[in-house]
Amino acid sequence: MTVPSFPSTRAAALDRLERFVPLAGQLYATGRNADPGPDAAGAVSRLSACLRYRLVTEREVVAAVLTRHSLGAAEKFVQEVLWRTYWKGWLEMRPSVWARLLDERERQRQHFPNSRALASAESGMTGIEGFDDWARELVETGYLHNHARMWFASIWIFTLRLPWALGADFFLRHLIDADAASNTLSWRWVAGLQTVGKTYLATADNIARYTGGRFAPKGLAREAVALTEPPVGPAQPLPELAGYSAGEPSLLLVTPEDMNPESQFPTGTPIMAAVVAGGGNLLWGDAARDYVAAAADDTAARVAAHFGCSADVLVTLDAPALLSAAREAGVRQIVTACAPVGPIADRLATLAPVLAGEGVSLVQARRRWDAQFWPQAKKGFFAFKERIPELLRADGLPA
Ligand SMILES: Cc1cc2nc3c(=O)[nH]c(=O)nc-3n(C[C@H](O)[C@H](O)[C@H](O)COP(=O)(O)OP(=O)(O)OC[C@H]3O[C@@H](n4cnc5c(N)ncnc54)[C@H](O)[C@@H]3O)c2cc1C
Repeated sequence: MTVPSFPSTRAAALDRLERFVPLAGQLYATGRNADPGPDAAGAVSRLSACLRYRLVTEREVVAAVLTRHSLGAAEKFVQEVLWRTYWKGWLEMRPSVWARLLDERERQRQHFPNSRALASAESGMTGIEGFDDWARELVETGYLHNHARMWFASIWIFTLRLPWALGADFFLRHLIDADAASNTLSWRWVAGLQTVGKTYLATADNIARYTGGRFAPKGLAREAVALTEPPVGPAQPLPELAGYSAGEPSLLLVTPEDMNPESQFPTGTPIMAAVVAGGGNLLWGDAARDYVAAAADDTAARVAAHFGCSADVLVTLDAPALLSAAREAGVRQIVTACAPVGPIADRLATLAPVLAGEGVSLVQARRRWDAQFWPQAKKGFFAFKERIPELLRADGLPA
């Protein structure tokens, strides 16, 4: 099996984007559902790891595509990129859903009785054609095509009857683009929890059709009865990110949530020094950690050149390392891009009071893109989608 490679420098990510742009119109719209397998190129961009860690931003990707295509011609691709933004905003306004995943995962780890079934699903030994191949492909390459992710999650939940939270956890431990929002909410969507009562049923015909006949699994569940849970409360307003003082000399903290601070903090921002957190204690899987380690080296070099300061990579993000970097830089403010709901935000939430106790504030700043789009994710994607052209135009894009 050929391991798909994912650009882990910004220059390589921009190069991939540039090569993909001509294909983002009709070719993408008609070809995106086909999964030709790991050895074939296919119609999708494979930009997800770059977008997930923001080596390139959603805005940059959409802007590049809209310089070549009209919004009408590239609508499908732009909408897919905006699905990512939508999921981020949706979870940001309902952080309890992330907490639910963590609780449910813990509960299932303790109590799910059939550890053998779980092990055979994760190692691709169930005997179900396709499913076993995707399990191995995921572990070996750190990536699955979107359709394969949907089929896999559906078979996991409805044919194998395994706990959805352990499937989501399996993905988060192996996907390079592992993302708290896109992953958790997509698994919930397949299970019938996200759009309450509406499930996704994988069928042999659909799999055979979109894998070019590579797989036609037998014995799949014929119905997908939605899982249930107590209702999720209404969307909360986005948390206020108070306290960032743009004029105050700061230590810049770059986390894997946003590895492109050059496009967020304007030139002239008094960044006295920077630290770039590698994936060490922040990400769940080795593949994601390895990818971020490479991206962190690239990011540190870019940040040092852009802000004209030192930029060190921190293998582990902890309070002593941050305090020592802040003291060395002679600052009392550490600024970082807003970390959306997920393990990194959880980590920052535990660090902030410790740093504050030492007289150093850890403050987050939200990108304009996020501030603009996230609050629109109060309802379903359809309502969100309707506002895309107007919001893109408000951000200066030719939509
Ligand atoms: C069960 C399940 C779990 C998933 N887990 C993740 C995850 O952990 N991280 C992640 O980034 N994506 C996740 N996705 C969404 C999607 O599968 C991947 O983003 C996509 O396969 C990435 O490949 P690509 O870059 O070639 O996508 P393209 O088709 O080229 O799309 C361009 C970009 O749009 C975004 N995008 C595309 N489809 C989706 C989608 N359905 N939802 C959200 N964003 C999308 C991605 O950022 C992607 O890079 C999941 C989907 C499912 C069904």
